[in-house]
Amino acid sequence: MLMDALSSLGHEAAENAVEADLIVLNTCVVIKTTENRMIKRIREISGQRKHLVVTGCMASVFPDKIVKNAPYAKIVPPSQYDTFSDLVTSTFGAGPPLPITPDGVTSILPIAQGCVGSCTYCITRRARGRLASYPEQDIIEDAKKALAGGSRELLVSSQDTACYGFDQGTDLGHLLRRLTALPGDFRIRVGMMNPDNLSKIEDSFIPAWLDGKIYKFIHLPVQSGSDHILAEMGRGYRAAEVARLIGRLRKACPEMTLSTDVIAGFPGETSDDHLETVKLLKEIRPDIVNVTRFSSRPGTPAHRSREKVPGRIAKDRSRELSELRFDIAREINERLVGSTLEILITEVGKGDSMVGRTSTYKPVVIKKALPLGSKASVKITSSTPTHLFGKCIEE
Ligand code: SF4
Repeated sequence: MLMDALSSLGHEAAENAVEADLIVLNTCVVIKTTENRMIKRIREISGQRKHLVVTGCMASVFPDKIVKNAPYAKIVPPSQYDTFSDLVTSTFGAGPPLPITPDGVTSILPIAQGCVGSCTYCITRRARGRLASYPEQDIIEDAKKALAGGSRELLVSSQDTACYGFDQGTDLGHLLRRLTALPGDFRIRVGMMNPDNLSKIEDSFIPAWLDGKIYKFIHLPVQSGSDHILAEMGRGYRAAEVARLIGRLRKACPEMTLSTDVIAGFPGETSDDHLETVKLLKEIRPDIVNVTRFSSRPGTPAHRSREKVPGRIAKDRSRELSELRFDIAREINERLVGSTLEILITEVGKGDSMVGRTSTYKPVVIKKALPLGSKASVKITSSTPTHLFGKCIEE
């Protein structure tokens, strides 16, 4: 979005930070370690004496930390992105608009700001505010521009894509039907959906998601398998509801890829609660699990809890969940060895390799210099818990 604004003012992306006149740092503060990384980067850039604009969640919730580390930086929180163009123009002027160039063949398609949740651990909610869905027609126009510019893959994203349109009298299923009706050979990946909101739109979403242009990939963060902890987190669903939803999605598409998130060591989590999470993961068998140790964020209800889980215990639980995650993913991916799959080449890999995505968004590494955006038939020759490795089948 900000890159598009820069292009429309005639400015182009530099090869690297050293050559840039202006550095825009988009920040995240979802957990403490990420916040620390952001502050380190702000300090580094501050030392280079470049024009710096800090955007994203830190600009909303911790502007004082930005000022402390880079006093001259301009701070533009997400609620003020409409001022970004004026800020750039006042410092650098503007030239004739440049064509918008997608990042490789992949374009991010933001569909909303904020969410309808009130999770007790979440600082993003404070930074991004209540749900503000972008008008459907604007999203369609953005998608058309990205496709006309060469994109082959659109990443539909927001804090919770499942609540898209709740404030506009529409829903994600409707938006996806309009996107898949656009002409061209492209794929869409739907970003994170919270289970409570997906439950509300499942009858509209599932038929739309079954379109051939949409990756059969679902990111459904469960966070815990314990109903007691889910209630403490303010998530608005029970573990059984998540299992039911996944059962329905798998019935519609048995080979789908499932990604989920869990938090280890949430305040008040007992060893029985932790075992409920282990049990749920064994039941739903996700391909990907993002395991995070609870990180207390200032200003959130969970920050005030007196029932903190000792760090050592949270670490052990996190390790156990990660090991389980890799065991499940190893088994799932090993079963794909020997199969033939079609992939869309989306990334340049390490060395002389390229990476493509299957129709279920699994990454496949191949040793062949195929152009980005092309398709190939590959035989899967080996796997790890995170990747498949394939060999192109010659036509
Ligand atoms: S749904 Fe919950 S975790 Fe996600 S952004 Fe909203 S409040 Fe935060």
